[in-house]
Parts: sequence; C-alpha cells; structure tokens
Amino acid sequence: MSCNDEASIAAVAVRNEDTQFDFVDGLCKTRGWCAPTFTLDGMHCPFCKNPDTKVVDTRVGEDGYSIRRRRECPKCSRRFTTVETATLMVIKRSGNVEPFNRDKVITGVRKACQGRPIKEEDLKQLGQRVEEDLRARGLAQVPSDEVGRAILGPLRDLDEVAYMRFASVYQEFNNLEDFERAIKELRDQESKEGNESHD
Ligand SMILES: [Zn+2]
Repeated sequence: MSCNDEASIAAVAVRNEDTQFDFVDGLCKTRGWCAPTFTLDGMHCPFCKNPDTKVVDTRVGEDGYSIRRRRECPKCSRRFTTVETATLMVIKRSGNVEPFNRDKVITGVRKACQGRPIKEEDLKQLGQRVEEDLRARGLAQVPSDEVGRAILGPLRDLDEVAYMRFASVYQEFNNLEDFERAIKELRDQESKEGNESHD
C-alpha cells in the first residue's frame, strides 16, 4: 500500500527571517507516517522529493492561528496538506530570543507538581492552554515573564499547592507576608467563583 493523495502533513518548520514555520509531524492516512522533506527555500514533495509544489487551496485552520495549504506535486501529481503556524518567540531575560517550547513550560511546572496528584495528561493540557493563551495575543514575540504569568491561571485550576510553589518561585516570594497575600488572593478568587457558579 502506498501513500496517495489522502496524505496529510501537519505543520512546517522553516527557519527564515520573514516566514517562520514549525514542522511538527507528518501523517499519511494509508501508511501512517510520511516524513516530508524541507529545504530553507521551500518544501519538497513528500512522495517523490520534487522540490517544486503547487498550492491548490489555502484555508485558515480551525484554531484560527494556522493556515492549511493543499498542495500538488507537478511531477507525481500527488496531493498533500501542510499546516503552517507562525513561530512564537520568547524574549529571555538575557535579551536572547528563542522559539516558544511547550515542553519547557511543562518541565518548569512539573517541578512544582512533585508529589501532587497530577497526571502527565494534565500537564500536557496545561502546556496547550498556555500556548493558546499566548498565541491569542497575536504577538510574534512575548517576554519570558508573560509565559510565567500565563502559567499561573491554568495551574491554579489544576492544583493549588503546585500553584503556590510555582508562584513563590516565579514571583520571588521573600517572606510569609508574600505567601499570606497569595493565599488570600486564592481564597478571594475561590469565593468569587463559588458565588458565580451559584448564580
Ligand atoms: Zn511528487
């Protein structure tokens, strides 16, 4: 069984000053996996590696942050889909800029979750929520502080102890008053949400 035009390829990664894409994975419905080949200038046909592909259809992805392109290879006539997303860049405190990495978010949060009843799946979802939150701002670059702030909300929903641990490091708690203030905020938030859910 060979790949046919049902192949679909999710997301792209080309490092280029103007158009930054991330290649995530490739999927062919009949073969399960098709690794596409990329060059800095463009994309090779994933079936015959022809360097020229023709875009036959372009649509905005369901999430609103990606573009799906249906492409056809002029050489072998096979069709495939690419999903292009802009690379979200994070400005570090040092001033260096690096691509946003969901795994880094999860690694940072996982430390705060030690010994807590939190599943790997919960962490994955948290990483996704953080990325969606940051992308929804429509900025190409976000400071690393913003990434930390975007973690606080979803982590609070997940586990209050992990939240306090994470907040104490991220917000540089220095004394008991800092903890008391954070706990008070947490309680206020809870009673507010409690009231809302009873309305
Ligand atoms: Zn081809």
